[in-house]
Amino acid sequence: VAMVDREKRPGGVLKQCVHNGFGLHRMKAELTGPEYAAQEEQAVIDAGVVCEYGVSVLHIDDEGAGKLVVGTRFGAELFLHAKAVVLATGSRERGLGALGIAGARPSGVYTAGCAQNFMNLQGLVPGATAVVLGSGDIGLIMARRMSLSGIKVLGVYEIMPFSSGLRRNIVQCLDDFGIPLHLSRTVVRLEGETRLQAVVVADVDPATRRPIEGTEERIPCDTLVLSCGLIPENEVAKTAGVALSPITGGAIVDERLATSTPGIFACGNALHVHDLADFASEEGERAGASAAAFARGEVQGGSASTDEAPIEVVAGEGVRYVVPQMISHDAEGAVMLSFRVSDVIEGVRFEVRKSEDAGAGEVLARARDVVAVPAEMRRMKVDAESLAGCSRIVVSAVSGLSARRAPAVEGGAR
Ligand SMILES: Cc1cc2nc3c(=O)[nH]c(=O)nc-3n(C[C@H](O)[C@H](O)[C@H](O)COP(=O)(O)OP(=O)(O)OC[C@H]3O[C@@H](n4cnc5c(N)ncnc54)[C@H](O)[C@@H]3O)c2cc1C
Repeated sequence: VAMVDREKRPGGVLKQCVHNGFGLHRMKAELTGPEYAAQEEQAVIDAGVVCEYGVSVLHIDDEGAGKLVVGTRFGAELFLHAKAVVLATGSRERGLGALGIAGARPSGVYTAGCAQNFMNLQGLVPGATAVVLGSGDIGLIMARRMSLSGIKVLGVYEIMPFSSGLRRNIVQCLDDFGIPLHLSRTVVRLEGETRLQAVVVADVDPATRRPIEGTEERIPCDTLVLSCGLIPENEVAKTAGVALSPITGGAIVDERLATSTPGIFACGNALHVHDLADFASEEGERAGASAAAFARGEVQGGSASTDEAPIEVVAGEGVRYVVPQMISHDAEGAVMLSFRVSDVIEGVRFEVRKSEDAGAGEVLARARDVVAVPAEMRRMKVDAESLAGCSRIVVSAVSGLSARRAPAVEGGAR
């Protein structure tokens, strides 16, 4: 087994996440990102995996009997012949170009990950007075990080009527540092010819999310940090012809995490954005085991490769997406379903039901929680044996009453 990464060290984004909150599920300890990455790296070394760093993979070609992974290292081409490939390419941040903010294009506008890299890995301070756009956990953590470095953080602005970050992070990152959170308010204009001089913010209509005229306010600052979502990185996947989901931005997979291209598997943020590193690692283990089984010839084909159409996994009421999108009829044991709700749901009741054929309407799994928010990935297991004779299952999340007595579904424990 070989592992290649374009960076000089393994760990991906974890290397720059110096805050704690990692490993609660997997290591049963509260670790920082680098500590978590170091433990996973040691496991990889102990397993005898060949690790190659500074290798940028450009494309994956089909060789008939296997895959040819083509990359570059120090300007030279590198070829790897493999029977199976796991794509764990992570995600990209949504940048200024995708946000449609009017005005100039001065320096001083950074994505949160970029500002985090400057501060935590390079010892650089991005500015003196900052505004954060987006109140997900990454935006909240960066607001605190900048405050701790002496940057005056003037506020966190969120277009939605609710923060997509965890309550705990709002308290520990904003309230404890006196940083105001402005909901239903966004940045509409940038000012400054060379360096950012001010941002103009405005209220938005909660229904249309469009700015409301007359509510504009000019805020002088030299730094704008954008924390406006992550997009699965799948440029390499596209070269291999992997079918992508328009909803998750990641590959369409079955319960083995097999993509539509035989021999290619996907996991982590490349498959769908994870809020917990623990779940991304666990998914990586599953994809690795599936790739090994494929390479040994124990299983064949990509997702939906058998003659019989697989069991469709559908996002029902209140659910934005479910991964995997299909389950093969020969699946065994417990199948993990990961999903997100499409809106805030109080007193939420989650259900996985058979929707067609024998036993239509039968509930396969059920859970409840006090509240579900789109920012928290949720997970439920279904027993593969219980799917016999079924062609479609639906995952739904609806508002129920007696939520307080219910066992919580997995997720959101950060
Ligand atoms: C600011 C922030 C705070 C977070 N806080 C927490 C937290 O408190 N607790 C928690 O559990 N989780 C947290 N998370 C989430 C967690 O860090 C991620 O879910 C997880 O680390 C994703 O891992 P990954 O391996 O899928 O992707 P990544 O970490 O992005 O790794 C992808 C790797 O692929 C490499 N790569 C990509 N394309 C290529 C290519 N073409 N060729 C070669 N290499 C390539 C990249 O260099 C990178 O090393 C946080 C995330 C962020 C961004």
